[in-house]
Amino acid sequence: MRKSNQEIVKWQREAKVRYNADIAVIGGGIAGVSAACAAAKSGAEVILVERFAVTGGMLTTGGVANFCDSDYLSGQGEVFDQILADLKEWNAIGSGKKSCFHYEVLALVLQELLLRRGVKLLLHTRLVDCIADSSGRISECIVCGKSGPEALRAKQFIDCTGEADLARAAGFETLKAGESGYQLPMSLMYFVRHAAPEEVKPLLPEGWFNPIESKDELPMTSIWPDGPGANALKIKIPMFDSTNTENLTSAEITARRRMIEVLDYYQRVEKKPWHLDHCSPIIGIREGCRIIGDYTLTLEDVRAGRAFDDAVARGTYYLDGHKPDDDKRTYIMSKDQLKVPPYHIPLRSLIAKDGKNVMMAGRCFSADQLALSSARVATSCSMMGQAAGITSALSVQNGCDPRDLDAADVRNVVIRRGAELANR
Ligand SMILES: Cc1cc2nc3c(=O)[nH]c(=O)nc-3n(C[C@H](O)[C@H](O)[C@H](O)COP(=O)(O)OP(=O)(O)OC[C@H]3O[C@@H](n4cnc5c(N)ncnc54)[C@H](O)[C@@H]3O)c2cc1C
Repeated sequence: MRKSNQEIVKWQREAKVRYNADIAVIGGGIAGVSAACAAAKSGAEVILVERFAVTGGMLTTGGVANFCDSDYLSGQGEVFDQILADLKEWNAIGSGKKSCFHYEVLALVLQELLLRRGVKLLLHTRLVDCIADSSGRISECIVCGKSGPEALRAKQFIDCTGEADLARAAGFETLKAGESGYQLPMSLMYFVRHAAPEEVKPLLPEGWFNPIESKDELPMTSIWPDGPGANALKIKIPMFDSTNTENLTSAEITARRRMIEVLDYYQRVEKKPWHLDHCSPIIGIREGCRIIGDYTLTLEDVRAGRAFDDAVARGTYYLDGHKPDDDKRTYIMSKDQLKVPPYHIPLRSLIAKDGKNVMMAGRCFSADQLALSSARVATSCSMMGQAAGITSALSVQNGCDPRDLDAADVRNVVIRRGAELANR
């Protein structure tokens, strides 16, 4: 295939303004769902745009199926409380580890919660572009589902894509990776079920891929129970960029090959009676691209358990900074440096510096790489989402933009909605 990086074609077409909303949330992971649900609870008309068939993002299509920090599952806000309560009602959490859940059921729980709150859901619909003026105000975004490209007009926008797709389309400043030049490594999640030993035949045919003969050759592999007679496996796939089309393609190809090599090792060398059940639909992405906000949360803030007057969310998880440039169980910092006290996430780190009516939440909020390594867990992403949803709805009600609001007003609503912000 010949590659061309030089030629440019100009592409232009008209799109119908098919959707009108107070708030458009782009990306339906835990951050986006929490943002949409919180904004709808505030009385805003909300549209959520998700490129896949289900919401939940990493937690569902990425197969993560676990909430970290099980000591802090409460106090994240009423949206997360409702999600937990629904998972419990469906008997879909606590099998295996106490914070593991059935990710197919989570997808259902999230869709039903969104619909109960009156959020308009566009599935199989991808954000492809946006129309922004020179001040950074976005008027419409262009989404593309099976009906083709259409315009979505809104007063406020929240980028919850993890890869900052909306902000990048608007030309806002973004940031990715850390000192090594690589993003936090990806991992592939897959699932095996147990069979009688005589029923298990190694899956990898001779002559394919690179069979693993000893434990030392394995990539970092985490294994835990996934309900009765089944295990979840997670393998580290480093040095790929989820914001680059060809690179992400290579990551998926590499990950699926590694999945079979690792499974083959366990079947053939360790004689595990494991059948491949299924693999998560997409690779797990820890870090995509972050949007520079009015404030960028730093490693120093997180380690100091820093308090902010405009705190709207809180992080509690350790610095889960997997070393980006090898595939072993290694960390950017030494293990005794990973623990952090509870710390605040300020409203300013959820407001896009280059935008007027644009917030972000979840993996693409404004943080340095190591601050993100802690704040990227589902609980904190949900808290950020809820705060962004509340803030955007207040902006609509007051006819102003997020940075024009009094942060104390936002914080009051956030706390009233069940978010625990104490950082000590
Ligand atoms: C391997 C791995 C293991 C992890 N383990 C844990 C764990 O045990 N516990 C824990 O709490 N956290 C864990 N995490 C972290 C956590 O799962 C994620 O950081 C968190 O769920 C991210 O939520 P999010 O909503 O910010 O992003 P995402 O979940 O990535 O959601 C982004 C959403 O946006 C959609 N989207 C993206 N681009 C577009 C577009 N252009 N148009 C429309 N839609 C778009 C995506 O399809 C997706 O649904 C893990 C992460 C990984 C990768």
